[in-house]
Amino acid sequence: ASPRVLVTGGAGYIGSHVLHALTDAGIPAVTIDDLSAGRREAIPAAVPLVEGDIGSAELLDRVMRDHRVDAVMHFAGSIVVPESVVKPLDYYRNNTANSLTLLGACLRAGIDKVVFSSTAAVYGAPESVPIREDAPTVPINPYGASKLMTEQMLRDAGAAHGLRSVILRYFNVAGADPAGRTGQATPVATHLIKVACQALLGRRPPLAIFGTDYDTPDGTCIRDYIHVSDLADAHVLALLHLRRGGGSLLMNCGYGRGASVREVVRTLEEVSGEQVPATFADRRPGDPPQLVAGADRIREQLGWVPKHDRLDGIVRSALSWERSLEQSVGQAGAPGGSASRS
Ligand code: UDP
Repeated sequence: ASPRVLVTGGAGYIGSHVLHALTDAGIPAVTIDDLSAGRREAIPAAVPLVEGDIGSAELLDRVMRDHRVDAVMHFAGSIVVPESVVKPLDYYRNNTANSLTLLGACLRAGIDKVVFSSTAAVYGAPESVPIREDAPTVPINPYGASKLMTEQMLRDAGAAHGLRSVILRYFNVAGADPAGRTGQATPVATHLIKVACQALLGRRPPLAIFGTDYDTPDGTCIRDYIHVSDLADAHVLALLHLRRGGGSLLMNCGYGRGASVREVVRTLEEVSGEQVPATFADRRPGDPPQLVAGADRIREQLGWVPKHDRLDGIVRSALSWERSLEQSVGQAGAPGGSASRS
């Protein structure tokens, strides 16, 4: 059998899209996930799931050996920024310490290729946009700090042990697999596009628009929303780069252009033909007015060409995923459904 790429956190939002992209490209994978946040159904049938904790060195050693793992894509971790402020040590354990354990296992197994999920949160509140990869890294929350520390470990392990890595700093990931195989399934949503879809479907109170007095053209914050399937493609390209013997890379994942909160809401209304129930609220603490990626490097160094970079397509895919969730929730909860045992 050919070697497999180990995907940590393959049952989660981004990890599951990457597993589908790998499977579509005919690249064998195996995933470790503790299913604390992810869903078993999100994993393609062809990919073995090892249910467990990536903080366990024994488990990592066993999976790397049994599946002849030659490369790792590391998604598992905690990702809720406000939670990281109130539970910082959980973030340093789940993100930083577990990454340390994972890198140790890579060295023991002779694995020298790692693709790492990092975040634009490493930049903190940037002085100017677009944000290029050489901008200062001054995270303003433990989430960003926990990811930046892992980036540093990857660089140092590269210098000392020849480990090669592609560090991908995600901007605002949104949307869902156009084929409807997976999507963002977290029940308690905090991200704008998902929250707006849920508000539109009447599954939560109206969307609160956090701040309308920012120094932006329409007063609301601007973000660089990237379709999760384009992001997944970037990961496949990163893996192929490393397998070809390519050296370490660090790059932003975004389109290099932003949309405001109002534009997102308007786009969702156009796509659905319905109004998004919304209210105006105070600014949310810690939100920079604009986060837009400097996006040249990823195109130049990986030859990445986005296929889903229209905001209406991102929003449409998010809405149809949300609708499908609503249906399955409705079915599971229906009286007299499959759950009843008479
Ligand atoms: N936002 C909003 N209402 C919400 C969630 C988000 O107005 O219920 C705004 C938020 O203030 C920010 C933008 O939408 O300006 C994107 O926020 P999100 O949480 O999606 O991503 P972040 O940029 O914080 O990672």
